Amino acid sequence: MAEIISGKIVSAQTREKIKAMVSEFETENKRKPCLAVVLVGNDPASEVYVRNKIKGTEEVGMKSLSFNMPENSTNAEVEEVVKCLADDDNVDGILVQLPLPKHLDERKILSLIPDTKDVDGFSPNNLGLLSIGTPRTVSCTPLGVMELIKSTGIDLKGKNAVVIGRSNTVGKPMAMLLLNENCTVTVCHSKTDNIAFYTKNADIVVVAVGRPEFLKKDMVKEGAVVIDVGINRVDGKLIGDVDFDAVSEVAGYITPVPGGVGPMTISMLLYNTLMAAKKVNG
Ligand code: NAP
Repeated sequence: MAEIISGKIVSAQTREKIKAMVSEFETENKRKPCLAVVLVGNDPASEVYVRNKIKGTEEVGMKSLSFNMPENSTNAEVEEVVKCLADDDNVDGILVQLPLPKHLDERKILSLIPDTKDVDGFSPNNLGLLSIGTPRTVSCTPLGVMELIKSTGIDLKGKNAVVIGRSNTVGKPMAMLLLNENCTVTVCHSKTDNIAFYTKNADIVVVAVGRPEFLKKDMVKEGAVVIDVGINRVDGKLIGDVDFDAVSEVAGYITPVPGGVGPMTISMLLYNTLMAAKKVNG
């Protein structure tokens, strides 16, 4: 049976370390690191995510600013808020909660966040720096996944890693992080034929697809590390992209949903905010 990698435990340990570093930062700089979160509209899932991010920020002793804007806000109005935050020296990180309402120009709004305050790691420059092996701010979810993989203590060098999903926010940066750790990386996506052919030979499988229980037992090699990024709501329940019970019978390590990657994503956001603050003052 696979050993469960608990995101709750790894995340709690990470947050304790961040809390201590925040306290040190405050003593040295006479201010708290500050994260500003912009939410446009009333998407219930986004509201929950934002609440958890703000709660996490305050729990480690950082300051949070929250801007809740109405659904019908114009592009100019949202741009104005982001520009103000970009110019404010007391704001270290800016997070615009996605998805934005359809009528807004997401790319334009995100482009107004300076790379140094891009704590989500979504900017082309931050993605580019990761790609050339000199990362600055890395997207929170893949960064959290790496922490979970490393918590197993396995030596990553030369391991076969398969990432299923190629989004700019999860799949691609995940593949780059694994490559930077000297894994041999294969990226699968919706046009990949016979995904099982790749996953059956993988020591590490990261699934970020958004399809409930996509990864089945017969696709997984004995002893593999299986990381489930997926969050799917089925009949009011949260279900991952991995058929957890069956895959647990063959995998060596596995993350649950909920309680796996999710808590790590927020921890890495806190880490990125602290690092953004330290670059200004430290
Ligand atoms: P996304 O942008 O929709 O990307 C999904 C990826 O999966 C795409 O690359 C797509 O391929 C691929 N895909 C879709 N159907 C497939 C299939 N049948 N076979 C193989 N590949 C397939 O999603 P995302 O933002 O990366 O998120 C993925 C999942 O992770 C979602 O469930 C999301 O809710 C979850 N998530 C969780 C966290 C967390 O903190 N736990 C954070 C972010 C995301 P194409 O490129 O070919 O279309």
